[in-house]
Amino acid sequence: MSIRSRNVLLAFGQQAIHKPILYNLAVNYQIMFNILEARIFPRQEGRMILQLHGSMEDIDKAIKYMQEEKVEVEFLADKIKRDDDKCIHCGACTSVCRTEALCIDRKTMEVLFFPEKCIACDLCKIACPVGAVIGTSIDMDL
Ligand code: SF4
Ligand code: SF4
Repeated sequence: MSIRSRNVLLAFGQQAIHKPILYNLAVNYQIMFNILEARIFPRQEGRMILQLHGSMEDIDKAIKYMQEEKVEVEFLADKIKRDDDKCIHCGACTSVCRTEALCIDRKTMEVLFFPEKCIACDLCKIACPVGAVIGTSIDMDL
C-alpha cells in the first residue's frame, strides 16, 4: 500500500465545529495528519489546513466522511497555480515558501513547483516580480 499525502483546507460551520472529526479520521480511517494552520472566526466558524497521510483509498473515504459531516473540503493543490510561460525562474518565490512547494533544481537552476505541497499562503504571489503565480489564498475567499 503506498502512502500519499494531500493538503486540504477544511471549513467548519457551526454544525461541525464541535464534532470529533479529527479523532475519527485517525481512528476510523487510519489517516495520519499534521495541522499546518488553524483559525477560529467570529460566530464559531473555523478553518484548518491539514496535511493528510494515508492510502488514496483511505484519504478518499475520509474526505467523503468529512463532507457528510458538513465540513467543506478543498484541495489546496487546486488553489494556486504557476503560469510557466511567465515564470523567469528568478527564485524569489522559493525564499518565502515554507513548505518547499517551490524549490530550485540545483542541476538545471529551474524553479520547480509541487502543487501537492502548497498550502495556499499566497506569499509567493506577493514575492513574484512578474505575476507568474495565480489563484487565491485561503484568506481571499473568506
Ligand atoms: S502559496 Fe505558499 S505554500 Fe503555496 S507555493 Fe506559494 S509560498 Fe509555497
Ligand atoms: S518568483 Fe515568479 S518568476 Fe520567480 S521563480 Fe517564482 S514564480 Fe517564477
